[in-house]
Amino acid sequence: MEFNFYQQKTSEYWRYPDAGNNFLFPTLGLAGEVGEVVSKIKKLMRDKGVFTPTALSAEDTEELVKELGDVLFYLSAMAKELHVNLSDVAQVNLDKIEDRRRRGTLLGSGDNR
Ligand SMILES: [Mg+2]
Repeated sequence: MEFNFYQQKTSEYWRYPDAGNNFLFPTLGLAGEVGEVVSKIKKLMRDKGVFTPTALSAEDTEELVKELGDVLFYLSAMAKELHVNLSDVAQVNLDKIEDRRRRGTLLGSGDNR
């Protein structure tokens, strides 16, 4: 699926105050959904002793995929609130990491290394 199609399609399902002019709500939603992913991983470790993707059951993987989709939903909404296409977000990120690889700065810290 193409990023911008996804972004346009999911914007039809936004239900929050002043949607289209409110980047705070999707930011909070994104943080919440990332937390759900983290919590699921934590519970897999605690309850099933799962530490690697190869140890996941098909059902566990399916549940994680759903949560990753929720992350994508809010990421997409946040980008749209910032008037940025999701494909542009992806391209900027790819350009950034490719540039870091070329310059040998993939490892290390700092946003603009
Ligand atoms: Mg969720």
